[in-house]
Parts: sequence; structure tokens; C-alpha cells
Amino acid sequence: MDYVIGIDLGGTWLRIAIAKNNNEKIKESILRKYILPTNLLNNDPIKKLENIIHEISKNIIDNIACICIAAAGKLDLKKSKIIFSPHSSIRNLSLSILEENLKIPIKLINDGVAGALAEWKLCIKNDNIVYIAIGTGIGGGIVVDGHLLIGKEGNAHEFGHMIVDINGLMECKCGGRGHWEAYTSGSGLPNLCKFLSKNYNEETPLLKKVINNNFNIKDIFEYTRKGDKFGMYVINEVIKINAMAIANLVNLYDPNVISIGGGVALKNPDLIIDPLNDHVSKYSFNTPPKIIPSSLKEETSLIGAILFAMEEL
Ligand SMILES: [Zn+2]
Repeated sequence: MDYVIGIDLGGTWLRIAIAKNNNEKIKESILRKYILPTNLLNNDPIKKLENIIHEISKNIIDNIACICIAAAGKLDLKKSKIIFSPHSSIRNLSLSILEENLKIPIKLINDGVAGALAEWKLCIKNDNIVYIAIGTGIGGGIVVDGHLLIGKEGNAHEFGHMIVDINGLMECKCGGRGHWEAYTSGSGLPNLCKFLSKNYNEETPLLKKVINNNFNIKDIFEYTRKGDKFGMYVINEVIKINAMAIANLVNLYDPNVISIGGGVALKNPDLIIDPLNDHVSKYSFNTPPKIIPSSLKEETSLIGAILFAMEEL
């Protein structure tokens, strides 16, 4: 079999790539890439995934060794199921049905774990790393002493749902309270901003937009760069929360390097990634690691999915 398919099924985007199998240079092995909105899978996601895969691999469908789906959300790897994805409508999605229909082996993995595999094998090449994606939600993966952590059902590192606020002021999309991603992810940050606006007294252009409910996440970063005081206050809170959560990960896993990806972080490295090296060291017990942006950018999980698909079944 000459080809594999990698799929990154994220909260907002569905990225798909067809790659040549067993190619040493993974990035060059990619033949075709597609980006589609994840909500395209609403209503009958299995049928829609099946149609998309048929459409993009017309002439080579019989020559595909494996498909790996790197999915955001709570998984059950033993049953090959995506149980619950907080940022999409996917619930109890059984991939064994897709496997039967397509007659191609399908592997399932958490998207953050796929990202960690890609960072570990292709970029950082160090046996103790943490990969953190700050995007629509917050997720990631961990390699300790050369072992990629998976867990009993494949959810070993759902640190986006780690509790960072004992008062649970913010409600997470998963239904829990006080979870990290409810504060500083793309879906959480606007709510944090609204919450902080309630007790902020000085009038600023961003505050006005927030009070009128006429703002988006891009505004928060842009106004902050222009020196908006409320924006700077919000971003300082974001840096503090991210640094505390990351310090917890440093104390748990003792990594040499932390790589940060995900759309929110990669689009705003000056405000989200750069301040972390200084701030994490304030809160961590263990020796702080080097914190760097992911060099695979938005494709970290997709490339991880291709790597998984190429591994022996
Ligand atoms: Zn949660």
C-alpha cells in the first residue's frame, strides 16, 4: 500500500492530508491537503467523512494502508469512539463503522497526542516534552522519558479541563467549572473578558466594545497592542492563568521543552507565548523548561496523524 491519510478533526477546522506511505521526510511526503470547517460534519458525520475520503482519494482508494484521525474531545480508543467533543456536535461517533464502510484500517488518537508525537519525532527530538495547543480549546500531549502518554481510554492529558480556579467562576464548554480552557482558549477568552469588564472602572475603547457586546477575540489582542489599558489588564490575567497551568504541568512531568501551538497562541505569540518563559518560572517548583512556539504551526496534529498512520498497525 502506497498511501496513508491523516485527519486532524479539530474544534473548528477539519484538516486532511494524503501522504506517501513510509516516507522518511514526512512533510515532503504530503501530496494533497484540504481544510474544511468541522461543522460540515453536522448531521451524519460518518457518511460525510466517508464521502470526503472518497472524493479526495478517487484513484488511490484501494491503495491506502491506513487512515489516522486525530480528534479533539474525549475518546474511547478501545471502542474506537469519539465520545464527546466540546467544540463540535460530535457525540458517540463510532469509527469502526467508517472502517467497515471504507474497508481501510482506521486509527484514532487525541489531536494533542498526535501533536506531541509530531513535535517529539520531527522537531524537538528530546525525550521529555510537553506540547500545548491553545486554540478553540486547550489540549496537548506529553512525552516522558521517551514514552508518549496515552491513558486507559486515550485521554491521558486533557489538561484543558484541569481546574485552575477553585471558585469555578467560568463555565467550560464541557459543562465543568473552573477549567483552564474556559478562561484563556479561543472559546473561553471572550467570556473572561466580559467577566473582567464588570469590575473595571476606567473607560477604554476595548471596554466600551465589550460592554456593548460588540467585540471578538481579535479585538482583544489588537486593542492591547495599541496600549488599551483594559486589554492589557485582560492579557495580564491570561498570561498569569496560562503560566500557573503550565507550571502545574512542569511540576507533574518535568519536561525539558514545552512547545506551544494552537491558533490563538500562534496568531498572537507576542502576547501569549513570549511572556511565558519569565512567568512560568515564578510558579514552578521544578526547573523551568524552555518554552517555544511549535515550528509545525497549525499542522502539528495533522502531521502527527500522518506519523501515526504510517506506524505499524
Ligand atoms: Zn472542561
